[in-house]
This record gives sequence, C-alpha cells and structure tokens, in this order.
Amino acid sequence: MKHNEIPYKIYLEENEMPKSWYNVRADMKNKPAPLLNPATHEPVTEEELCNVFCKELVEQELNDRDAYIAIPQEIQDFYKMYRPAPLVRAYCLEKKLGTPAKIYYKFEGNNTSGSHKLNSAIAQAYYAKKQGLKGVTTETGAGQWGTALSMACSYFDLDCKVFMVKVSYEQKPFRREVMRTYGASVTPSPSDTTEVGRAILEKFPGTTGSLGCAISEAVEAAVSNDGYRYVLGSVLNQVLLHQTIIGLETKAALDKYHIKPDIIIGCAGGGSNLGGLISPFMGEKLRGEADYRFIAVEPASCPSFTRGRFAYDFCDTGAVCPLAKMYTLGSQFIPSANHAGGLRYHGMSPILSQLYADGLIEARAEEQTSVFKAAEQFARVEGILPAPESSHAIKAAIDEAMRCKETGEEKTIVFGLTGTGYFDMVAYEKFHNGEMKDYIPTEEDLQAGFEAMPKFE
Ligand SMILES: *Cc1c(COP(=O)(O)O)cnc(C)c1O
Repeated sequence: MKHNEIPYKIYLEENEMPKSWYNVRADMKNKPAPLLNPATHEPVTEEELCNVFCKELVEQELNDRDAYIAIPQEIQDFYKMYRPAPLVRAYCLEKKLGTPAKIYYKFEGNNTSGSHKLNSAIAQAYYAKKQGLKGVTTETGAGQWGTALSMACSYFDLDCKVFMVKVSYEQKPFRREVMRTYGASVTPSPSDTTEVGRAILEKFPGTTGSLGCAISEAVEAAVSNDGYRYVLGSVLNQVLLHQTIIGLETKAALDKYHIKPDIIIGCAGGGSNLGGLISPFMGEKLRGEADYRFIAVEPASCPSFTRGRFAYDFCDTGAVCPLAKMYTLGSQFIPSANHAGGLRYHGMSPILSQLYADGLIEARAEEQTSVFKAAEQFARVEGILPAPESSHAIKAAIDEAMRCKETGEEKTIVFGLTGTGYFDMVAYEKFHNGEMKDYIPTEEDLQAGFEAMPKFE
C-alpha cells in the first residue's frame, strides 16, 4: 500500500474490537516464576492470594495455560466509551526528522485519567463488583492509577480508598480533586488510619511518604475491612493481561492495512503498557510466525532492566506482598526525584523479566533531560502534550528513526504513547528553566539496594 493510502489515524470499527485478552504466558516456553509467600518462601496458594486480591483476578494471575481470556461484555461496553484508541501515523514528526522511517504511535491518553491505566482499572473494578465486594483499596504515587481506579469504581458503584504518597497529595492537588470528583476517598500516606502508617509516622515524623509505604497501608486497609480487596495498577500478570487490549487493537489496525512493524517500543515502569502492547506480536515471535525487535525504555535514574538483578524480591517496602522473581533494584532502593513518577518502581513485570532474560526484548535507559527534549520535539509537531513516562518511548522512537535516516532504511516503528502530561507541567517548567537535573545512581547506590534483597535461593 502506498504512503498516502494509509489514513492519518487508523481506527477500528466496533465489530473489529478485540473480544478477548491475550495471555502471552500460554506461548512462553519458560514461564514466569511463581510468586512466593514472603514468610515461607513457598509458592503462594490461590487461597492465600484470595485474602488480598479478588477471586477471578487471582485466577488470571495464576493462569499460564489459556492463550485467550474472554473480556466480559460489561468491560467491552466500558471500553467502547474511550476505545478504540487511535493508531496514529506520525507524518509530521517523520517530516520534521527527515527520516525514511514510518512512525506510528498508539495513543492511550483519550480519557480523563490521561493514561492506559483505565484499561486494567475497569477490569479490576468489574471483578470486585461481581464478587459482591463493597470496595477496593490501592496506593497511588503520581496519581494516574488512583484516578483511573476512581473512575472505574464510580462506574460500578464501588467504594474506592486511595492512599496517595503524601508529597504528591500536597504537590498535586488537582489530581487529588479529580479522584474526589469520582467519589474516591484520598488519604495522604503515611496516615494515622492504619497501624503500619502510625508506626511509620512515629519512627519518621514529618516523612513525606513513599510508594512502598502507601502499598503497605492499602493492603492493611483491605485485609482489615470486611468486603474490601487490594488492587494494583502494574507489575502483576493480570494487569499485563488487561493491557493487551492495547497490543491487540494495534495489531488489528496494522493488519487492516497490511503493515508489518519492524520495531515496537514502549516505556517501562512496572511493565504493564509495554507488555500489553507487545504481547500479541511476542506471541507470533514465540510461535516462530514472525520476528520483531522489542525495545523497553526506562529512566536512567531507575534502571531495573539495564542494571538490576533477576532474582526474587519483595514487591513493596513493607514486605507484606508476595515475592516475585523479576529484574529489580531491591525493594529498599529509593530512586532520586525523577519526574516520570510512573516509572519509579524498583521492580519489573515477571513476564517481561523472563522474556528479557531469554533475550527476546532489548532495553535501554534514558536520562530525563533528553526525554523532555524528545517530548517537546513531539509536542511541537504532533499536537499532543505527552506524559513524561510516555516520552521515554518517544525518545527511543526518534533515535531509531534517526538511525534509519543515516542508513536509508524504511523501517516501520510503532511506539506506545501511554498518556498526556497536563498534570506534569511543574516538570516541564523545570526543564524549560534549565533546572532539570539528570541523576544516574552509582554502583554503590545500587549495591545498597541489592544487599537488602532477600537471600534464600
Ligand atoms: C503508570 C504509567 C506508565 C508506566 O506504567 P507501566 O505499568 O510500566 O505501563 C507509563 N505511562 C503512563 C502515562 C503512566 O501513567
């Protein structure tokens, strides 16, 4: 098909929308390692997980067999409100770069949460409602996940308790108010509403909190309140499964115009958007039907793939959650202030970790000033102000397109544009004022995190 026959934006018709999520674990020869009970170091049982998580989500978490899992009609109906997400040909960016490469991006910022996180939030809220629960608890750092979950809970009339890292609660009042608009209760963490919160406040008075601490509070609130369960916005297998709606739509849109991508790029925090985007393509690669290059882009300040260890580690600072085998910097690793709040997690999806260990994914780390430079370059020609997290993928896409300019190759590059950056203008301001600093942890910084990892293998 000739250039100008491909629409600027490829949308799917309603009847072309995916009806099932794709579970890449079914096609993986080396399955991701099981979660372990933090006390016994034995694989966690379904029953243990059900005390903390919703029942059907636990089944999805443990399901390594079924390649396709049907999307319940109620979730499909909700998806119709803001999906299909457009697959956009970045003609203007290509022109500006003068590259022979063809660049496409899948835009997930078309909903109030401003990110892909709603794809899993609505699924998790649905299963909680179906189980007859009163509500769910969670933590949020930068606020995208808390916002998405608040939206999903209000739709299904569920109570939503969000523990928001105190520093964000104070610095991002607008995010907080969006969540309250959707009826969520938002508590700055650490708080005096949980035992673990009170203990932390006593030990560190005046602390501005951390994601790890907020997770511990949210888990306590779930297990100590009747009719509540805890939900998480990334890392887990179930979240990656729900996010495959991104990759399935992308693949259907590309197939519709007989486009075969060469390189697929995504930013990686806990790995849910990247995993969701690449899963259907990875399935083809695993089955030997096609070949693609997959590139994960992480911040240089929190480089789990490129400098982390592949080992069992705690998922939270309080060590109450199961242990996961993943690329990790250690649960005690505190990344320096990096504005891409959604990429500050110490670990990585166990599915992506296994695929990376098997050499099926490439990874690179980018410094934030170069990421914001790419963000600005993109915003000026493509009409979308990207989230700092998403801009890591933009940076890599531009770099690959520039490589094509040198070699003259007409590669097709697809990247995930996970969201918009309107709540991140303080970061953009720092960048514009030349006040943004790059921070790369030293070997010693990383060593401290590695030493605090559990040792029992
Ligand atoms: C949360 C977030 C991410 C990173 O999360 P993953 O689980 O790695 O996908 C990326 N982009 C945006 C906009 C986010 O909100």
